[in-house]
Amino acid sequence: MHEQYAHMICERREEILARMDAAVRMSGRTLDDVELVAVSKTVGIPEVLAAIDAGYRTFGENRPQELMRKLEGLGSIVDLPSVRFDMIGNLQTNKINATLGRVKLIHSIGSLHLAEAVSSRAARRMEAGELKAPQPVLIEVNVSGEETKGGFAPNDLRRHMDQLQNLCGIDIRGLMTMAPRGNKDVARSCFSDLRDLRDELAVSSGLALPELSCGMSEDFEAALVEGSTIVRLGRVVFDPMFEVL
Ligand SMILES: *Cc1c(COP(=O)(O)O)cnc(C)c1O
Repeated sequence: MHEQYAHMICERREEILARMDAAVRMSGRTLDDVELVAVSKTVGIPEVLAAIDAGYRTFGENRPQELMRKLEGLGSIVDLPSVRFDMIGNLQTNKINATLGRVKLIHSIGSLHLAEAVSSRAARRMEAGELKAPQPVLIEVNVSGEETKGGFAPNDLRRHMDQLQNLCGIDIRGLMTMAPRGNKDVARSCFSDLRDLRDELAVSSGLALPELSCGMSEDFEAALVEGSTIVRLGRVVFDPMFEVL
């Protein structure tokens, strides 16, 4: 990897952490309370290695094939248990088995059907002794109501929470959303709606639901102010042309 690129990644990381620090303090927390997932879906293994050198440890992929490719490519180079991947994108049922046990967290359980499919496969793998614990997952919520977005409509999630909670192959850690792009105020209210929904569901379900995965390159500060615990940053981490606003 070019020295210049490695330098850019390091400088960006310093800027990102400083901005995250300022935002997270506004919600009465510190950087230790939040996780930064570097979304590597558009870059290759050399860029991921540069990011590891810069200090990133958790990466996000949105396609199982690309996840496999990165894990195989990195496996011979880095100490994989210390570098982890999350699945952040749409997961087709025929790719679940390839993903289970290989990712720290699946952010994108956007339907009851997918939750059931992941759970039944995970339960089977646990019975076979191939998986030690239920797969940690987040429930994706379509807070903004945009038709192009996946995830549970808030009312559907309220209605299905009982069923989700009874699935023994998954460990529901919290909620995830994507805000509409282009308007910071709209994004921020989307994040606060996600937090309110989490608070409500935590009470009604009795689950702790500690994680809120929200905030991307253009809106991560608003997300952190509103209580996000996991930001998923792609372009601001990896793209030299991305404008840091
Ligand atoms: C691509 C992607 C991101 C990162 O987006 P950026 O705007 O590049 O930071 C975050 N979350 C999901 C689900 C994504 O698909």
